[in-house]
Amino acid sequence: MNPRRLRLPQLLLLASLALMACEAPEEASPLPEETPLTASNHSQLTSHADIEDFLERLARASHRMELRSLGTSTEGRRIPYLKVSTGEFGADRDERTMVLIYAQQHGNEPSGKEGALELALELARGDHDDLLEGADVLLVPQVNPDGGERHQRQNAEGVDLNRSHFILDGVEVVALRELFHRWEPEVAVDVHEYYPWSDAWLAEGWLRLWDLQIGLPTNLNTDPEIRRLAEDSFLPGAIRALKDAGFTSHNYVVGSPEGLRWSTTNFNDGRQSLGLLHTLSFIYEGRREQEPAGRIAHRAEAQRTGLEHLIRFSSQEGARVRSTVREARRRAEAGEIGTHLLTMGRDYGDAPLEIPVEAVLEENGEWVVTDTVTAVIDEFRPVVTQGRTTTLPRAYLVPATEEGVIALLRRHHVEMETLDEGTELEVERIRIEGHTIEELENPTAIADVAKSLERYTAREGDVLVPTAQLRGVMVAAALEPESMHGLLGNGQFAHLDQVGDFPILRVPR
Ligand SMILES: [Zn+2]
Repeated sequence: MNPRRLRLPQLLLLASLALMACEAPEEASPLPEETPLTASNHSQLTSHADIEDFLERLARASHRMELRSLGTSTEGRRIPYLKVSTGEFGADRDERTMVLIYAQQHGNEPSGKEGALELALELARGDHDDLLEGADVLLVPQVNPDGGERHQRQNAEGVDLNRSHFILDGVEVVALRELFHRWEPEVAVDVHEYYPWSDAWLAEGWLRLWDLQIGLPTNLNTDPEIRRLAEDSFLPGAIRALKDAGFTSHNYVVGSPEGLRWSTTNFNDGRQSLGLLHTLSFIYEGRREQEPAGRIAHRAEAQRTGLEHLIRFSSQEGARVRSTVREARRRAEAGEIGTHLLTMGRDYGDAPLEIPVEAVLEENGEWVVTDTVTAVIDEFRPVVTQGRTTTLPRAYLVPATEEGVIALLRRHHVEMETLDEGTELEVERIRIEGHTIEELENPTAIADVAKSLERYTAREGDVLVPTAQLRGVMVAAALEPESMHGLLGNGQFAHLDQVGDFPILRVPR
């Protein structure tokens, strides 16, 4: 039809259509009534495509949610996340604690994702608006979509993402940490599953039965007030909340009946690495089953309950959480942290550990549960002990020749300044004289060093890394040659671990 020859009725029709488009209230799209998991009667784990579709529908229907993407996985899958707030997200940091929930770094541990999706539905519906008065939530249900699609632990390149938080060799972890860097949430939880069917426990005829183990920031370089808040306030309340909902839980222990301790202090994982950035940081470990979807309704609900409690704590105890985290971050940035721990061991507590376990017997190749009994573990070492210490220097000087180290620090958003060529400084030179095998979490070779003062003239491209910054403690844990979890233990930096002069220098206070 020729637009110049429209007749009146047609013009009226077009005008009224245009008016309707402008004025008719947009029909709100309906919220999904259930998650993909419940829609499948708990028979099917939620696929990556279903996660994307579900989150899109939530965000379209609920004014509390915005859907975003961290970026893409190794194989190009989007990594979606939700920003959840009843107000303007992130605009009111004095009244709302920011909570980061990230699940399924390990693709073969699906219950955290399923629990997070259930929680997302409840948040979208307004079920927890009272909690959102005091908390904004970043929710990443599946950090590792490629691993999730294959039901494998690692990402598509074979990287264990929860061992990648220091070296940053997993693209999905780099993307997740950019989100942390953008918002610096005060509270974070990394959601996993543990495997109770290990040979060492079955050899005793025992299956650990906790529905959820809760790991705390136990690295002693994490601010002591943050660690106290986690252990004395959060943990007892979380265990109670889980119990009221019919779930068993415990502080996260690893090992076998022959030797049990709190899980590692290594900051290559999400929990400890964010702890070193002075975050109230946790790891949840739900109980995995032999079949991927075995008892998944129960497993997902345990995780959902734990996550809801974390938001409740962050909201109801918000003033204390925010002031504790902020004070720790302020001290770090002001350079008020004097002592740095290089090595940590573990020691016995006051008593053996008594835990309820399922007694099992093998019958025709199947494990049959016969009873619930109390296992007494004498070889239980829950105390994290202080080993070697040093003082935090004012700065580290990384010579331009250590390009890999400088690049890694940049990827961590560490603040650095490039020195002018010819600048003279007094530095501490470290000499590695040999190694001692120390009985830490495991037997570990630790460098033995001697230090001496000297004048140093900067060369082009040398950088100065001040320790008075949010990431100062992490920098020391990375760069000190005696640090038990530092660069020296990582293959790609093996050249640093040689007898002789250590290339990175300390700049004393
Ligand atoms: Zn895991």
